[in-house]
Amino acid sequence: MTLTSQQPAVSWHSLTVGETLSRLDSQPEGLSPEEAERRLAQSGPNRLPSEEATPPWQIASRQVQSPLIYILFIAGALSVLLGDFADAGVIFAVVILDVIVGFFQEYKAERAMRALAQLSAPRARVIRDAVERDLDPANLVPGDIVLLEAGFRVPADLRLIRTIELQTDEALLTGESLPVDKSTGPIVDPAATVADQANIAFMATTITRGRGSGVVIRTGLQTVVGNVASQVRAVGETEAPLRARLKHFTEVIALVVVGITVLVFALGLLRGEPLVTIFRTAVATAVAAVPEGLPVTITVALAVGVWRMAQQHAIVRKLAAVETLGSCSTICSDKTGTLTKNEMTVTRLFASEQTYEVTGVGYAPTGAICQGGQAVGLAADPSLITTLRIGLLCNDSQVFREDDRYRPDGDPTEAALIVAAQKGGLQGEIEREAYPLLDELPFESDRQYMAVLRAHGAERLIFVKGAPERIIEMSDQVERNGSVTSLSRQPALAEFQRLASEGLRVLAMAYRPAPANALEIDHRDVERGLILVGFAGMIDPPRPEAIPAVANCQRAGVRVVMITGDHPVTAQAIAAQIGIVSEPRAPTLDGRELARLSDDELRDHVGRISIYARIMPRQKLWIVEQFMRRGEIIAVTGDGVNDAPALKRADIGVAMGITGTDVAKEAADMILADDNFATIYAALIEGRVVFDNIRKVVAFLIPTGLGLVLSVIGSIILGLPLPYLPAQAIWINLVTNGTQDLAMAFEPAEPNIGNRLPRDPREGVLTNPMLWRTALVGIVLMLGTLGTFIWGLSSELGLDHARTVAMTTMVLFQNVHIFSSRSFTRSAFVTNPFSNPFLFLSVVAALALQALAVYWPPLQGVLRTVPLSYETWLVILPVALTVLLVVEFDKALRRSRSSSASGRVG
Ligand code: ATP
Repeated sequence: MTLTSQQPAVSWHSLTVGETLSRLDSQPEGLSPEEAERRLAQSGPNRLPSEEATPPWQIASRQVQSPLIYILFIAGALSVLLGDFADAGVIFAVVILDVIVGFFQEYKAERAMRALAQLSAPRARVIRDAVERDLDPANLVPGDIVLLEAGFRVPADLRLIRTIELQTDEALLTGESLPVDKSTGPIVDPAATVADQANIAFMATTITRGRGSGVVIRTGLQTVVGNVASQVRAVGETEAPLRARLKHFTEVIALVVVGITVLVFALGLLRGEPLVTIFRTAVATAVAAVPEGLPVTITVALAVGVWRMAQQHAIVRKLAAVETLGSCSTICSDKTGTLTKNEMTVTRLFASEQTYEVTGVGYAPTGAICQGGQAVGLAADPSLITTLRIGLLCNDSQVFREDDRYRPDGDPTEAALIVAAQKGGLQGEIEREAYPLLDELPFESDRQYMAVLRAHGAERLIFVKGAPERIIEMSDQVERNGSVTSLSRQPALAEFQRLASEGLRVLAMAYRPAPANALEIDHRDVERGLILVGFAGMIDPPRPEAIPAVANCQRAGVRVVMITGDHPVTAQAIAAQIGIVSEPRAPTLDGRELARLSDDELRDHVGRISIYARIMPRQKLWIVEQFMRRGEIIAVTGDGVNDAPALKRADIGVAMGITGTDVAKEAADMILADDNFATIYAALIEGRVVFDNIRKVVAFLIPTGLGLVLSVIGSIILGLPLPYLPAQAIWINLVTNGTQDLAMAFEPAEPNIGNRLPRDPREGVLTNPMLWRTALVGIVLMLGTLGTFIWGLSSELGLDHARTVAMTTMVLFQNVHIFSSRSFTRSAFVTNPFSNPFLFLSVVAALALQALAVYWPPLQGVLRTVPLSYETWLVILPVALTVLLVVEFDKALRRSRSSSASGRVG
């Protein structure tokens, strides 16, 4: 796609950096906040026409477009034709009520989802008044200086000022799927296409590698992407499979309802009933059988789940995750920052064959370098100083002080090295002045090291730090006490492993002189001929919440697996501390061994190995795939740009909210606002609750619908009049479906929810035991209702009275049944009736409405009811209670038969 035709007048790419800055009246230190504000008023917010919210009319029309509502419409229309205006009125009133309730619930759920999405919106890193700060990208203005890093989304169109191995993914604009190298030099061709403009970073593209900075040249609709915004598709929201499945389920129910209605019709014809009666009966059956509350309740249950997860810091990006979480069987977690605090403190240094302890915890520069408890003078060992200096100067991060607290700005590993150097007496500013920076190769997980080229007087030095085994491999000499000798690799590796076995994250420091005229370095200069000087070992304590969370996961039948870039020995020590494995030297697979395996071998290994160390981000995807091949439902955490494929592929991709890059967040189904492993467990439980609650709604609605239908069919077979008129049938539905099923969506978790195995993902909503229970309840309801109806008919108080009795029995049945529907196996007698206040209130409301239906003349008129005597209630009430006894008896049988499946809904 060529975008030249949409280029604005200035050909920014053909200007030099200096010309660009002066044209924009900006400088490398950025704009002043006042100037930025003035420009913002002029340029307007830097926003693209975001994906439009679903318009309300669409939400409303979705409510009407349901087969269940169609059936009610047809029933209403038939009632009008039959002249039963009261029935038709009630039916239409219910349809309207249902649509209104559905509309508001869905509208609210949509808004909540959008608000949550805002929480995970990207931020821009900007320099203003020479200070770096995070900004809402909407506030960017032309002239702002923006910093870029791998994984970031470019927040506006930028003319690049500085690039360090910078690559971007521009597939969005050009369709080119390979990353594009970026540079800073001007491009002479004024008609260069987007793909040719290597010195421009375009809004909404992503940085796949390297670092850089640029000056904002265009914002919002002026940007290239703004010009073609309509062509750029935002990541679509996938429909929850549960919703899709329930849509199908509703269609099946609709078909069943139609089938039953036809059956009732045929029965009527067979018995030679008058046609009008047959129609009335068919309408009553259809109306009674339709569980019109179901679709709304599903939406509400999902929304409640999403909301509860957000309360626990898990932000759901794709609704599908809510359901999938309930069947998650394995969690593959990063180590650093998720299972550990990512608060690094260097506690050990190793140089010149000596080990030193470093005192003090955290990022405050208070502490000392000691040996045997005694502070050591650094002058004694120049190699120790060089180790600290490389840690300090081969470094992209900072430590800053805020309200008496020291915090890292950048990578905590690097911040810890700065603090260690300070404890050793090195001063950052003086060192940086004495060794000015010339070039840099930023840290990349794939290469496992970082390098800088610095000047020192007339000398040029390359400083390198990284994973010890990698640095040892790249070194052929070692420095001890300031003198250089050849390196024996084995003892160096053994020393490093000794530090790692204490659970320390170890980095090695090395250097080499560079040619005196060197101004740049590349990887070939660094990957051989280094001089190893020392190691720094740092603690990264486990997150205290992670330990119980891992134990909880295991109790819930969910395996926890650690996939880390760190060394196997460190990974083993941390995995044992956290409880992922029980022995300190548990089987571990490292990246190199992994690379030699075949798909099938790895699939077998993942069945038993829970620690994966020195894993390159691209290997993560492969591990994930092998777990999936075993049929596991897998949640995978990640934060870097390279994690995105694994996050996308996994059943549940989980991105880190704090340390995660924009790319990882966009690939994820769920974001952990607090980067905390314990949050995954909390979300997993909420996922189970949502599914349970949906099943509970189904387990409540379907049998009660069945009870109604069976009693109509039973009355036809027995040659009795209809036990309820259409208006009465829909009234029964209204006072129960309209309130109680909705309340069921708010049910709290069952106490044993964390002790049972994950749900088999192939298991549908209605399981066989649930079908059996449905039939059982349906039969009890039919027998009870027909029984009281016949009793009513025999009392000579007339048909209206008998129907009032039957209808009231049904309402009471459902109000009793709701309490045993709260758990499939757990006894209603041990469940606190007030633990879901919505449910309790809905029962009170239903009973109050029923009292109105029986005693309030206007409603009596519409529903053709008559007042019931106190003695009548004394008959109906015990009958209604039978459903509770029967269901509780069935539950007790199930509990005793299979204690292992105890508590499982279905
Ligand atoms: P996890 O995957 O659990 O988050 P990790 O943070 O250790 O683990 P990486 O960031 O890929 O994974 O780091 C891999 C290794 O590279 C580390 O063990 C360390 O030895 C080295 N390393 C990490 N950060 C840096 C850095 N900033 N500079 C140089 N080397 C580093």
